[in-house]
Parts: sequence; structure tokens; C-alpha cells
Amino acid sequence: MRAAFLLLALALGASASGEPFASGSAEGYRGPDAADSARVAPGPAPHLVRDRTALPAGAEIGGFLSPRGLPPRPGRFIVTDTGLVFLSSDGRLAQTYPLAGPVRLREGRRWRAQVVSLAYADSGLGRPVYVFRVDGAVFGTETPGPLLEMAGRPTWLDSVTSREWRPDRPLVNPWDTATIWLVTRSIERSAYADTLYALFGRPARPVGLVGSRGRHAGRLGEYIASRDSLALDPARMTSEEQLRHAMAHELAHRWQARAPGQLRTLWQGIAPIPDSRRYGHNRVPEHQAEAIAFAVHFLQVTAAAAAPDASALLDQYELLVPGTRLMTRYFALQPVYARHPLRRMLTTGVLD
Ligand SMILES: [Zn+2]
Repeated sequence: MRAAFLLLALALGASASGEPFASGSAEGYRGPDAADSARVAPGPAPHLVRDRTALPAGAEIGGFLSPRGLPPRPGRFIVTDTGLVFLSSDGRLAQTYPLAGPVRLREGRRWRAQVVSLAYADSGLGRPVYVFRVDGAVFGTETPGPLLEMAGRPTWLDSVTSREWRPDRPLVNPWDTATIWLVTRSIERSAYADTLYALFGRPARPVGLVGSRGRHAGRLGEYIASRDSLALDPARMTSEEQLRHAMAHELAHRWQARAPGQLRTLWQGIAPIPDSRRYGHNRVPEHQAEAIAFAVHFLQVTAAAAAPDASALLDQYELLVPGTRLMTRYFALQPVYARHPLRRMLTTGVLD
């Protein structure tokens, strides 16, 4: 059922001219966490029961959610008494996070994992944007309201029931080799892939699966320049969006391998990724590949119609992965995006 849905979504997804794709639940360019120790922060003992009337139930916080390293999606968080619910503006993503994470024992003491924490505030857009960690996602907002309060561990949080993290569901069953190949062949032959081949060229060999060495290194995709060969690992991904992201990211490595001088010339004065936990932080080739995959994603999601807030959306991509704007402008000049509704805005800076 899941595989059938996936294939349908891939088939209905992007056209060669770059229509937006349907995407399911969004996870990220990162394998499932081996352990959640990184998510655990010291917290008060769970048996304390305090007044929970201060819980800001019903409050809404608008912003952009980037789940597991993937590009940001506009939407809003709604605080309910059982969790923090994110609804994307396009109605395609609804995701609930617990208000209080699970109880853990460490050195004989009980801790409650903190769900919301403030990662940093960024003023790169000329106004403060608060970037929060919410479980495995980051959420950027200019109007943090109750999130800022939650990050400060208010006493009312102590009265909220702890909940275990939900395990990430794989996109395909890791034991179902036939479906793994089917999914790999489907994306390789999709209109989305045609758009990528138009930008980066087509590898000499068919797409393969990541081998055991790459898996042990935690890679969800690989590009082997010496063989001009691309490999993916859909069984360790958790969404179609992650699969598409991996393909764009790996083909970006093809571009790096084939035209290093061109990329060096383009990549001038690009600031580093501010978030130390984001993939590509302090590693320029990976940072570039992420910016390239983010740029492709932006052009795909805005291809159907000229969204009035596209410029603000691109700001959010750039905030998380600097260099995305530059790559978006470069791709907008390419023939495959000749009819893109934002082409004029991106290439001349003039809004139609
Ligand atoms: Zn990479």
C-alpha cells in the first residue's frame, strides 16, 4: 500500500519543466537516529505535578519547519494539551510532537527529554528569527510567543505527561529487496530525475544501491566519481522527500567532480551554515551539495504558480543553508526552468 502510494506520487510528481511534487511525511537527509541520547536534556522529575492551567493551549505560532535537515516548509504550530501540532500551509503535512519527551535514567537520576529548545537567534534577514529545535526538526519564526516560554522549561511543563519518541518508519521495508529496487528505478525514471539530469547530466550507469561500506558510514546516497555512478539507500530513508533530496544532493557531487572550477567561481563569499548540527556544517563540499539540493527543491515547489511570498520563503532556505539563493538564481537561468514563474524575479530581482 505504502509502496503503491509512493509510486503513484512519483508518477504524478514533477514534470520535466519542474512542477511541484507531492510529498508525504517529511523527514530528512540523515538516517534514523541510532540512539536518542542527543535529544535528552536534563529536566525535572516527572512525578512533580503542578498547575497546568498556564499551558497556552490553542496558541498558534507561524513559521517554517525543517524536519530532519530537509528544506523549510511554511506553516504553523498549534499548542494543544497533548502536543505541539505542525500544519503546513499547503495542507500536505500534519505532524504532532509531544510537549514533554520520554523519561530516561542517567547516572541513577531520572531525566525528561526536552522537546523544544532554542538553538539560536539569527538576524541575517535584518530582523531576529528564532530557530528552535523541536525533536529532530528545526523551526524558524519571527514571532516565537509560547515556544520561547516552552524552551525556558516553565513549571507547567512538569504537569504534562511524558511520551516516548515515535520511531521513524522507513520508506520501504528494509527486507523487501524487490520494492527497494522498484522505488529506485521509479525515481531514476521519473520526470523529477529528468529535471536533475538536465541540470547535472546523467550518470553513465543506472542508479544502484548503497553498499555495506557506505551503509556503515551512514550514507543515504553516494556518488562515485571514478565510475560516474550514483547509489541510493531508500530502505533507510523515511520519506519520498528525503529520497528526492538525496538524489539531488548526490548529483550535485557529480557537478562538483566534473566542473570544480565552475563551482569555485560561483561559490564566492558564501557564509558557513550557522547550525552546528545541520548536515554540511563546516564541510564545504557537503554544504554546497545541500545548497544545490535546497535550490532544486525551492524551484520545484514554486514551479506551479508565482507565489506572492516566494521571496520570503527563499529567505528561509538561505537562513538554514547559505548559498541556496545563489544556486537558485543560477538554475533559474538554465533552459529546464525557462518557463518557471519566478525566473524573472530570480534572475533580475524584479517582481512581476
Ligand atoms: Zn554529500
